[in-house]
Amino acid sequence: MTTETSAINSESDVVVIGGGPAGATTSTLIAQSGLKVQLFEREKFPRFHIGESLIPETYWVLRRLNMLDKLRASPFIKKYSVQFVNANGKLSAPFYFHDNKPHECSQTWQVVRSEFDQMMLNNAREHGVNVHEQVRVLEVIIENNVAVGVKIQEADGTKREVRAKVVVDASGQSTMLQNRFKLREWDPILNKGAIWTYWEGAYRDVGKDEGATIVIQTPNKEGWFWYIPLYNNRISLGVVAPFDYLFKNRGSHEETYHEEVEKCPAVKERIGNAKRITGYFATKDYSYRSKACAGNGWVLVGDAFGFLDPLYSSGVLLALRSGELAADAIVEGIRKGDTSEAQLGKWGQNFNEGVDRMRRLVCEYYDGFSFGQFVKQNPHLKGHLTDLLIGDLFTDKVDDVWEPMEALYAPEKTEPRRWDSGTPPEIASNKVNELYLPDGARP
Ligand SMILES: Cc1cc2nc3c(=O)[nH]c(=O)nc-3n(C[C@H](O)[C@H](O)[C@H](O)COP(=O)(O)OP(=O)(O)OC[C@H]3O[C@@H](n4cnc5c(N)ncnc54)[C@H](O)[C@@H]3O)c2cc1C
Repeated sequence: MTTETSAINSESDVVVIGGGPAGATTSTLIAQSGLKVQLFEREKFPRFHIGESLIPETYWVLRRLNMLDKLRASPFIKKYSVQFVNANGKLSAPFYFHDNKPHECSQTWQVVRSEFDQMMLNNAREHGVNVHEQVRVLEVIIENNVAVGVKIQEADGTKREVRAKVVVDASGQSTMLQNRFKLREWDPILNKGAIWTYWEGAYRDVGKDEGATIVIQTPNKEGWFWYIPLYNNRISLGVVAPFDYLFKNRGSHEETYHEEVEKCPAVKERIGNAKRITGYFATKDYSYRSKACAGNGWVLVGDAFGFLDPLYSSGVLLALRSGELAADAIVEGIRKGDTSEAQLGKWGQNFNEGVDRMRRLVCEYYDGFSFGQFVKQNPHLKGHLTDLLIGDLFTDKVDDVWEPMEALYAPEKTEPRRWDSGTPPEIASNKVNELYLPDGARP
């Protein structure tokens, strides 16, 4: 395997900003087509990242990337299902992905992101992407309303320009181009925060259920815990709740985390005999999306396009899928000499509709939706509900779940507001997503 980096070229067909899952996907698929791609990543990998639970529909993109054999050979825990614990502590039956889709895609993985992201970036190198770590993109160069390259800064401080036919922004929550063109729409409903840490020796199921993600609602219904088993007998355990509830007039992250654990017997009993192995991580976690996914000569992918609340672990899928769709549009566009907004963004509408479906399921959960009650009353729709959970989002076949869901609404309840229906100004004015990392050990 080659992890060496060749020299930076002053020109290439495509430049990609950021080496997370979205950037690695886009660049690999473009390189597969024979075009020249350079990727700039400001960090030295492996670097910490949250987002450990994959969902099954990642399979199709991972297959195109030739990543499946690498994942099969990895130590990552296999994930076959997801389970929900409600506010009364009642555990739902597992949603086994295979029952719904009897195909090998129904087994996915719980990954350590520093390792997974490094595998993806090395895979990009193996496919011919010219990857440069510790090189920061300072700015996208725009001439006559067209992106024509980037200004970069190397680790030794050297600055220079690199020209390209297309610039892909995969800078994650840094959202370089979204900030520059003021394209961000903060979600009017999904204003959350998260605090998490890692445990060794916590409870795990056995056999097929060992790798299940468990979503545990807090007894006061203010939030939920993710319980994600990782390899080496580790558990990633985080609490997600409204930003104000979690961070306003509370103590340290450590104190708040343990107050929430204390209130939640289903979590407390699972970590009763476990040892905490890292400090406390926290993030302000506001969902957002860009008003456009492309412009002339530029495209947004992954979190640089949008971030959706982590409830159903959809982030990496959306990063991979947008990366794939963008790569196909870019290759086609360069081949026919059309790198206009219309060509580069032709995938945006269908993609947005898919994200809308996942967002609706997220909003319904926060507004009292019960998986158990729904499936009891609509057993014939369990399959389509599972389709949503596995990330099969980009088709309207699943839309028959919404009406029966509305039939369960309390009288005063209405459909969730759309993501682009406008954020109340008092919320929008002071929003910013921030990540707090503890000193010392990280997975
Ligand atoms: C609390 C929480 C829990 C989550 N849980 C899950 C989960 O269980 N499953 C899941 O699928 N997703 C989850 N996610 C979402 C997931 O983390 C992201 O959606 C995913 O990492 C997006 O990938 P990306 O490639 O777009 O961005 P990133 O992975 O953030 O990669 C962006 C890269 O760009 C680099 N970069 C930024 N600016 C520059 C610059 N100027 N120059 C060069 N490089 C730059 C960064 O260093 C970074 O490496 C979670 C997110 C949060 C906040």
